[in-house]
Amino acid sequence: MGGPLGIGGGLIMLVLALIFGPDVISNGSDGTAGGDVGAGLSPADSAREEPMVQFVSFVLDDVQKTWAEAFQSAGQAYRPATMVLFRNGTQSGCGVGQAAMGPFYCPLDEKVYIDLGFFNELDRRFGAPGDFAQAYVMAHELGHHVQHLLGTDAKMREMQQSNPRSANELSVRLELQADCYAGVWANSAAKRDKLSTGDVEEGLGAASAVGDDRIQSQTRGGVNPESFTHGSAQQRAEWFNRGLQSGSAQACNTI
Ligand SMILES: [Zn+2]
Repeated sequence: MGGPLGIGGGLIMLVLALIFGPDVISNGSDGTAGGDVGAGLSPADSAREEPMVQFVSFVLDDVQKTWAEAFQSAGQAYRPATMVLFRNGTQSGCGVGQAAMGPFYCPLDEKVYIDLGFFNELDRRFGAPGDFAQAYVMAHELGHHVQHLLGTDAKMREMQQSNPRSANELSVRLELQADCYAGVWANSAAKRDKLSTGDVEEGLGAASAVGDDRIQSQTRGGVNPESFTHGSAQQRAEWFNRGLQSGSAQACNTI
């Protein structure tokens, strides 16, 4: 398959199906998630996408609650990221977000940018709104926020500057850590009976299409986007499972 959603065939991996009930989704969030939701959407789009907006808001809140508790346990303060939904394009602190780019996290304004067109595509190809693919993608992006709060991204940029030849490898490690952090959240969600084991391999396959590396490479400079990768599907599943099994951010040390 070509295009941004192209995934390798034959991926066999453990993924989890989200079973957030519709009642939980409709009551679990006020749909604002820190503001900016709905920016750039026409009323028709907004009405059609309301269930998706509610779902991503719910997941955003749920993931951030998990991290706020983990930070608190470690004696650190968690600063929530905000979410921006867009369809065709948007300005971000990291440059212009484009349609079909996929979701991305901008450390400069601490916002997660969600391309609803990308989510529609996930939806069309991989199932109903509120499936695992979308939640996974959000948890991965918030993993980048956690990295930012912990200073991991800054540390990685320093390492990349002092050793440009390993820049790509370091970027991969950052991506795998974000996958692991998504697993840490999944662990917490599983404990609260929000997840069930299932054969939804498309979840991680879809997650591998996330394009945040592209915009990050543009803003950081010096990295050839074509050589950028999130790691192999197998690596991603491995690191996700590491977070899932341990439920601990300490298990996610790739850098
Ligand atoms: Zn990423």
